[in-house]
Amino acid sequence: MSDLLSVRNLKAGFLAGGRVLTAVDGVSFAVAPGETFALLGESGCGKSATALALLRLLPNAGRIQGGEVWLEGEEILALPEAAMRDRRGSAAAMIFQEPATSLNPVLTIGRQIGESLERHRGMKGEAARREALALLTAVGIADPERRLEEYPFQLSGGMKQRAMIAIALAGEPRLLIADEPTTALDVTIQAQILDLLARLQAERAMGMLLITHDLGVVARSAHRVGVMYAGEIVETAPRQEFFTSPRHPYTQKLFAALPDLGQRGAQLATIPGQVPGLAAMPAGCRFAPRCPVAMDRCRLESPGWTELEAGHQVRCHWVAQQLPGGEQRLPDLP
Ligand code: SF4
Ligand code: MG
Repeated sequence: MSDLLSVRNLKAGFLAGGRVLTAVDGVSFAVAPGETFALLGESGCGKSATALALLRLLPNAGRIQGGEVWLEGEEILALPEAAMRDRRGSAAAMIFQEPATSLNPVLTIGRQIGESLERHRGMKGEAARREALALLTAVGIADPERRLEEYPFQLSGGMKQRAMIAIALAGEPRLLIADEPTTALDVTIQAQILDLLARLQAERAMGMLLITHDLGVVARSAHRVGVMYAGEIVETAPRQEFFTSPRHPYTQKLFAALPDLGQRGAQLATIPGQVPGLAAMPAGCRFAPRCPVAMDRCRLESPGWTELEAGHQVRCHWVAQQLPGGEQRLPDLP
């Protein structure tokens, strides 16, 4: 399966007080066409920074410190900014939690879709108008002719999100990056938007990088998932395997902290202890201060990857140690 997006050892951070505090530390993953890869983690774990860094959209204080990002076979971290601007919106488009961040309040919805159609597909006039109507219809907006003439403030929250998706789709992106696309919406609308994204993705064979803190969203939408903790991916697995045999102690704590696994919109609950701050990352495993099975070794040595099943990998000394001679059964956490 050839990759649409391949992120290799990405390292990025933010300039503060004369030094760069690393927020994304050696992150690697790939997304294939038609696949949804979810990056799951608590707020502040570096998942949004990962998405912004790979499209080179970090704010001014942001710095890319290393690694490679391959998009459609091209290493894009090295591209001149003008070329990068062409790739954004066409090769890869992004939608955000708050439509307000990406919708322009002073332009009509039609105008905003039209700008993307012209920039990325050279469409103008009547052809662009027809395509804009088709896009609004595709994202489930009723009465598209009227909506085309409206401004963002005239739309409900769910409809704004649909309009934002229509604008993102106007450039026919092969990769859609969705950062908490439903977090600001109520549960019923959330489900509708997630289903819409899944349908559009299948129809267009788009790859999707879905950023979320919500296990319910992963259960509903992801094909594969990577769990992020303190700037690193610590476990990655296909969805089924992830829900039946989560293995990293942090992932297991996330599940254990859930009141009801099947509950939609189930949020990641609190785990005792604190996520380490960017300026004070512990040596060794970053989860060690909160880990119920931490060993001396964990505080000294950062764990490497252990593969449990095809595509299911975990970074943990304890997991690795439990696997003598290819033994696949692991005890549950105490
Ligand atoms: Fe816990 Fe050690 Fe595994 Fe880190 S490496 S999660 S501290 S057992
Ligand atoms: Mg975020």
